[in-house]
Amino acid sequence: MQWPVAPTTAELSQPAVPYPAGSGGAFGWRADVGRMHYGYDFRAPAGRPAYAIAPGRVYFVASGMDDGTAAYPAGWAAGGRQVWIQHDGFMSRYLHLSEPQYAALRAGGLPIYFGGPGSPVDQGQLIGTVGGTNFAGPPYGAHLHLEIVVGGTQVDPIPFIQQRLAPPAPELPEESPMVHSLSVNGNLYAIGEEFITHHNSVQQATITRQVTSTQDELHTLNTADFTHLLDGLGIPRSVLDTNGRVLNPETGVHEVNGTWSRRREAFAAVKAARAAQEARLSAIDAITQRIEDRVNQIAFPGSAE
Ligand SMILES: [Zn+2]
Repeated sequence: MQWPVAPTTAELSQPAVPYPAGSGGAFGWRADVGRMHYGYDFRAPAGRPAYAIAPGRVYFVASGMDDGTAAYPAGWAAGGRQVWIQHDGFMSRYLHLSEPQYAALRAGGLPIYFGGPGSPVDQGQLIGTVGGTNFAGPPYGAHLHLEIVVGGTQVDPIPFIQQRLAPPAPELPEESPMVHSLSVNGNLYAIGEEFITHHNSVQQATITRQVTSTQDELHTLNTADFTHLLDGLGIPRSVLDTNGRVLNPETGVHEVNGTWSRRREAFAAVKAARAAQEARLSAIDAITQRIEDRVNQIAFPGSAE
């Protein structure tokens, strides 16, 4: 996976070329025009190369309404010159191009490949250049409107791409198969397949390490690698808060020195189920009591009063 527009040297510190916040380029509700914006607009000068974000096959190419050759799939009829690419499990759509690479994308000389086996496309292949063709909105200038379609629905392209840009999970050293000591953004952890503990001091981390494995060292991981490690172990990301504290399943609170484990989580679930059951029983008791009170208030014929 890669970004669809390459940054210039001056823009290299940024992951892409985003619109400033609030200017309407982001995915989501667009207040200035009162409708959803189903893609993300990468602002770039006209003529900037646009690249396929992943390998796939051409699904649709339109030279735009400009020359009347476009026959859009049902329900789609805007966006100017554009290219759609079918990938494994999702589709990417690149709109408002000034110059799609027709020669490269039209295998067999056909104008479009809608639903058919289009030409193969490599990740990073030039698919066109940024433009502003058939752009119906406010005059934001040249930009690439990128959409990601998953199961027929557009999703926000930025997190979608960012998640797939992340490097693969790191290979951890072999010396301790059960427990590892990690340093992540200044937080220290002991982590295994069944648990994760947050330490608030190097001494505590050292003691844990010495108890579990005299050979193991403290490994420093960046946040992305740490997230991949959690995913790989099947530990929910929600056990960490933004400060790196760890969820105590029994209190529901992220704590310094907190420990999450599968056993504690299962125990907390059982406890919660029992509490819910007790609450139901006492509610039934209360209702029963009210019924009894009402019955007792009824004066039956033949009673002493
Ligand atoms: Zn857009």
